[in-house]
Amino acid sequence: MSLEEIYKREEALLEGHFLLSSGNHSKFYLQSAKVLQNPKVAEELAKELASRILESGLKVDVVCSPALGGVIAGYELARALGVRSIFTERKDGTMTLRRGFEVSKDEKVLICEDIITTGGSALEAADEVESRGGEIVGFSALANRGFCKRVGTDTTPDLKCKLPKEKPLFALDDFIFEIYTPENCPMCKEGSEAIKPGSRN
Ligand code: ZN
Repeated sequence: MSLEEIYKREEALLEGHFLLSSGNHSKFYLQSAKVLQNPKVAEELAKELASRILESGLKVDVVCSPALGGVIAGYELARALGVRSIFTERKDGTMTLRRGFEVSKDEKVLICEDIITTGGSALEAADEVESRGGEIVGFSALANRGFCKRVGTDTTPDLKCKLPKEKPLFALDDFIFEIYTPENCPMCKEGSEAIKPGSRN
């Protein structure tokens, strides 16, 4: 079953008029929490992602996720890889390692998100890990929104992608759909209002 089929089966591929955390608008939204609420599904997806990472030969000591979205995916991926799982969270707007989480000097750290859109939060988590002495060996996510190039595809990264090009990005699949600035959003032009996904339930 494809990743898109799994998201549809779990009613996690939403259609409407959404305000994304980046401030952009979209007709679709991937509600990964609905997929990951089933531990069996989360485990299976993480195992598949882990097998692709292991096949590549990448060495990972720790998985680090930006909270909140990446935490479950990162935890399951760490379990599948047999390594530690930590997360960064925002404090006064800055992505920070708290709760006693530490990264040893030169520990090899893989950043994990549920979805990589432009990779902004993932990059902030990576910067925090590097400032603590860790070595970022790559990025990972269940799904890639198609702006960044993932391992196994030969697409050209979009200018919106913020991830460093020299580091690999592992994801199970690409979900490609348009995002719009509020000024260019066709749904706004039709007079509807963008909502924050999940804000109504
Ligand atoms: Zn809009």
